[in-house]
Amino acid sequence: MSTSYQNFIDGKWVDALGGETFENRNPADWEEVVGVFPKSMKEDVDRAVKAATEAQKDWKKVPVPVRGAILTKAADLLVERKEEYSRDMTREMGKVLTETRGDVQEAIDTGYYAGSEGRRFFGRTVPSELPNKAAFTTHLPLGVVGLIAPWNFPMAIPSWKSFPALLAGNGVVFKPASDVPLSGTHFIRTLIDAGVPPKLLNLVHGTGGSVGGPIIEHEGLQGISFTGSTAVGKLITRVSADTLKRVSLELGGKNAQIVWEDADLDLALEGVLWGAFGTTGQRCTATSRLIIHEAVHDMFLDMLIEAIGKLTLGNGLEEGVDIGPLVNEEQLKMMVDYTQIGLEGGAELRVGGEVASDGALDKGFFFKPTVFSGVTPEMRIATEEIFGPILSVLKVSDWDEAVAVHNNTDYGLSSSLYTKNLNLSFHAVDDLVAGITYINAPTIGAECHLPFGGCKGTGNGHREGGWGPYEFFSETKTVYFDYSGALQRAQIDTEEV
Ligand code: NAD
Repeated sequence: MSTSYQNFIDGKWVDALGGETFENRNPADWEEVVGVFPKSMKEDVDRAVKAATEAQKDWKKVPVPVRGAILTKAADLLVERKEEYSRDMTREMGKVLTETRGDVQEAIDTGYYAGSEGRRFFGRTVPSELPNKAAFTTHLPLGVVGLIAPWNFPMAIPSWKSFPALLAGNGVVFKPASDVPLSGTHFIRTLIDAGVPPKLLNLVHGTGGSVGGPIIEHEGLQGISFTGSTAVGKLITRVSADTLKRVSLELGGKNAQIVWEDADLDLALEGVLWGAFGTTGQRCTATSRLIIHEAVHDMFLDMLIEAIGKLTLGNGLEEGVDIGPLVNEEQLKMMVDYTQIGLEGGAELRVGGEVASDGALDKGFFFKPTVFSGVTPEMRIATEEIFGPILSVLKVSDWDEAVAVHNNTDYGLSSSLYTKNLNLSFHAVDDLVAGITYINAPTIGAECHLPFGGCKGTGNGHREGGWGPYEFFSETKTVYFDYSGALQRAQIDTEEV
């Protein structure tokens, strides 16, 4: 008998109004049902928006440090529950336990950051050009916001959105991806247990079409924070034009690690193994391209192929497993398709390229870590996001070529250069079109107190992490306070300034 879970709407755990449900299964063992969840529709979203709108009227009056203290308490509770939540996360989406612990830890760190922001959340005091007049800025909440998250960081990404949204005084309607409803449930339960007003925070489970669609179209929401695919991001931009919602989009990536001729090759090897195959390559920041200087190309490629042979695939809950399954059958099929695309495009398959189904792997969606060499910049496997354990290797002969190859994609999220050349490192900062550049570290590994996001097709310019989202979830109010007792006209009485 599988456990049934519910939505959290209007302060209560409830089924979808239509009574429909969907199953959440373990991608490492498809026979295991992790839970049964409500398949919600527009009317559930409507109820959630209504409840959050009512509750937000009180929440916006709660002093910001008090809001922060509640969020700190949520982070404390996540610390206590970390192991349980990490194990459940591995069961529902497959990544290995060390990584799911990192995912929950990121939510914890983000909660503590939000708690401390409660005692900052600075406005600015600005000198007025007129005498006896004060000028400053303060924050007002947007109102109620819709948060839509993907499945690959089931607690970290919802935390990047929810903590700043709540701290800034907003009501929330949150839709987790339907591959990870349990982690979404754990996260919301924790916030409620910590003291977030129940009606303020609403969890609505369901598919992108049945719940995501009504959220992005909803006239009662003032903002949408979305992380997911570029296709859905573009749809949200179009739909939001009608209601002029504020929209933050974090979308795909086609990230590259560049290995220069003077690089520490052992270090670069560890970096690319982690960057390309960590989370089974299912990260927006995954290393999908490896750009190698011709002087070390052949040697580094040999080192890489040998190291890949030592990686172990399996259930992420088991000791010694390096790579878990793909999240679902569709993603697995995508890997088979991209292998074919690579071969048809003329690239050389060096390792992997097939479904792994030996023994217990047969029950899940496993794909062997795959490397293509001889990839040229215009090939599809060099430009399209693959979102799985497939790495495309490109050879370059000088820095200008490396930059041209690196920038030859529609995305611009994360980038990495391995070199001992200090000057070249700073050229990388200037030349690589990406929101993040790592020097001597892989393309993955963002820290929650620093801005996270990208250029070009990766988003619309907003950043998650750090201080940016607190601005995104706020309206800036500019206050002029004239204590001169006379009419003072800016620009007119101050012509000489
Ligand atoms: P997705 O776009 O399919 O789904 C993301 C979320 O949007 C899910 O909750 C889904 O249910 C919802 N959704 C789907 N269709 C919708 C619609 N029509 N209206 C509203 N909501 C809808 O993406 P995914 O497969 O879950 O995640 C993988 C993608 O996310 C990759 O492209 C990856 O690069 C990207 N991603 C980006 C970041 C980042 O920060 N840049 C982080 C993680 C993942």
